[in-house]
Amino acid sequence: MSSHKSKSCKCGYKMGDPWIVPNSVYTFFGWLMVSIGISHPPVRVNFQCEQCGETVFTITDKKDLKSHAYH
Ligand SMILES: [Zn+2]
Repeated sequence: MSSHKSKSCKCGYKMGDPWIVPNSVYTFFGWLMVSIGISHPPVRVNFQCEQCGETVFTITDKKDLKSHAYH
């Protein structure tokens, strides 16, 4: 029972492949903080395929999100 189980997109890519890129989702406030240079964790990080746009993995855990905060 792993919470880090990743599926493949329709091109066959999954976590770790170069086409899978993290896409941070912020609240408006969070986005504002980041845009003025203040570190703020996203509410969610979607790992999406750049080819088809399909999300293969989503991080919503607050502890994991902190490691994806911009700084
Ligand atoms: Zn794809």
